[in-house]
Amino acid sequence: MFKRFLFVSALALITGCSKQKGFVPVYDVPVEFQRFVRAFIDEAAKRGHTYIINNLIIKYDPALPYYFCGKSNTYDPEAPVQKVISINPNIKCWNNDQELETLIFHEMGHCILGRLHDSTRLPNGNPKTLMIANNLSLYSPCVYPIDGEPCDQSFKRSYYIDELFDAGTPVPEWAK
Ligand SMILES: [Zn+2]
Repeated sequence: MFKRFLFVSALALITGCSKQKGFVPVYDVPVEFQRFVRAFIDEAAKRGHTYIINNLIIKYDPALPYYFCGKSNTYDPEAPVQKVISINPNIKCWNNDQELETLIFHEMGHCILGRLHDSTRLPNGNPKTLMIANNLSLYSPCVYPIDGEPCDQSFKRSYYIDELFDAGTPVPEWAK
């Protein structure tokens, strides 16, 4: 009886431990996306935030609905789950590196920073944040001219990256 009790206790202990230690995060990011993860870490560091990212998979997922460019599986940075960013290989979502950066930063905003979608506008009508859904051209260089807007939007990048890491970033001069 005592032996069996010991056995049961030991089993409970092992199971309990394995529940706590069972989650082993994986880092697996294809080379074409790696530089953007690196840029995210570097941009965070410039603003005084340290991120060690060892829990992240970025992969193409042909099963994503056609209207998604990318998708994060969690909006909770602290959850003990494998973080996965899925990228849609079936549609052409980005025209240049800046737009791909916006996509990766937006998805990392969800799973690394825990930020949700935000459709707030700045006084000039531009989105307040790159956490807006469905807009990858916030700070894109010139793709094609649109009347009334400077064609090259890349001067807005520093604001949008500031805002990504600090939602309380003041309205920039160009948006007043
Ligand atoms: Zn999103």
